[in-house]
Amino acid sequence: MAEKMLQFTHLAQQAPEKRAIGERQADFDEIYRRFDAASAKAQASRCSQCGIPFCSIHCPLSNNIPDWLKLTAEGRLEEAYELSSATNTFPEICGRICPQDRLCEGNCVIEKGFESVTIGAVERYITDTAFERGWVKPIAPAFERAESIGIIGAGPAGLAAAEALRAQGYQVTVYDRHDRVGGLLIYGIPGFKLEKDIVLRRWKWLEDGGIKFVLNADIGGALSFADVRAAHDAVLVATGVYKPREIAAPGVGLPGIVPALDYLITSNRQGLGDAVPDFEGGTLNARGKDVVVIGGGDTAMDCVRTAVRQHAKSVTCLYRRDRQNMPGSLREVANAEDEGVVFTWLAAPEAFLGDEHVTGVRAICMHLGLPDASGRMSVDPIAGSSFTIKADLVIKALGFDPEDIPGAFNEPALKLTGWGTLKVDPKTFQTNLPGVFAAGDIVRGASLVVWAIRDGRDAAAAIHRFVQANVQAMAAE
Ligand code: FAD
Ligand code: SF4
Ligand code: SF4
Repeated sequence: MAEKMLQFTHLAQQAPEKRAIGERQADFDEIYRRFDAASAKAQASRCSQCGIPFCSIHCPLSNNIPDWLKLTAEGRLEEAYELSSATNTFPEICGRICPQDRLCEGNCVIEKGFESVTIGAVERYITDTAFERGWVKPIAPAFERAESIGIIGAGPAGLAAAEALRAQGYQVTVYDRHDRVGGLLIYGIPGFKLEKDIVLRRWKWLEDGGIKFVLNADIGGALSFADVRAAHDAVLVATGVYKPREIAAPGVGLPGIVPALDYLITSNRQGLGDAVPDFEGGTLNARGKDVVVIGGGDTAMDCVRTAVRQHAKSVTCLYRRDRQNMPGSLREVANAEDEGVVFTWLAAPEAFLGDEHVTGVRAICMHLGLPDASGRMSVDPIAGSSFTIKADLVIKALGFDPEDIPGAFNEPALKLTGWGTLKVDPKTFQTNLPGVFAAGDIVRGASLVVWAIRDGRDAAAAIHRFVQANVQAMAAE
């Protein structure tokens, strides 16, 4: 029977059940269980069907949330799937890893007093169910076009663009320097947030739809950017941002101090069944170690929780601001605390100790000052407040900057912004090189999966306009 809507007044918010702490510390599986059909229906029915849905307004994809919640509440799941997938290339991924507390759910009007609708969990449920029931069909263009598009980068921005362009009938080739598709979805974000099967399933779906992948292809290395450009009618650069920000402190070069992404890629590869010497040899393995992670973003949260699952002796997160002023999701901090991570707020590293290998971190306490130009609270050290934490593995997770793309691509004319990201026309996503477009983190700076998907879809629409204008111009000649 169809559920009535507006049930929030008497039906409490219920998030999907979390696995017991001891159980989830022992593996890399997702920590949230899935809604069953009854819970998904009931939770969707809490929506009050707002005339102006703030949830949708604050979703970067402008998802039609109230309508697919209503369809779910009515048990019309296939229609809910059609609607949800019309605006989001990977709804089951966003449902798992969007920071919903800052986006859709954080802006649900029934949040105050009644708690928001569990939008992300329902979104995930709809598409997981669609896959199980065979409703997710390969991309099937109405007709084939002769023009081809090259996409550099198989992360969410590149893949979202690839899907949209293939659906228009283009011949699409995606190049990536890694051996698997997914970008940070496969090698950055750990399985306890996004199980790898979910990403591999989408890889197969894209291939089944006729998208060609050229992997182990470092553009600018063995394969030149000029060659890729010459092979296609348009090129999209969606290479993400990978240059780790560094710490300027004595001893930072000691063995045992490692960049976050090296650590996470190693762990993800090991989980995928690859032979990883750095893990087997112990360099990038937290087992039995006192681990200190420096940083307060999503990457730092993923590192601390990975270290717990690798059976570290202790895991401490050192962050120079406080909990309220950290960039990472508060939901992930709470999960990390539950799993035994110790957070040392308002503390920054002063020096790394040790002779042959790191043995500890000398940190200093900080206090918050006035907001700086970026609007974030400034931080100042408190004289005489130094203390030492024992450490034999230190993970630096201070964020990422763009690599030197014009240098790597041997294309010095390619223009950058002041932040080193690729400069594009915001309406057309085109760089200053004709026919070369860019999307995702390489344009925005380190951001979110949902924004990468949005950019990829918008860039695909702009590429379609560009290619068709060229086709028409040639026909008119
Ligand atoms: P990427 O995902 O980085 O993909 C870029 C691809 O380009 C990669 O596959 C790379 O191999 C390839 N590439 C780069 N250079 C070349 C080259 N020269 N030749 C060929 N290929 C190349 N966001 C969320 O929304 N939720 C989260 O929970 C979350 N957690 C995160 C955790 C971590 C550890 C990190 C690092 C980020 C996290 N993010 C999260 C951010 C999110 O992953 C990114 O914003 C998103 O992946 C950006 O997508 P993209 O397609 O622009 O780039
Ligand atoms: Fe919310 Fe992200 Fe889904 Fe949008 S895509 S509805 S922000 S979970
Ligand atoms: Fe439903 Fe909340 Fe969105 Fe309103 S803001 S339509 S109650 S999910």
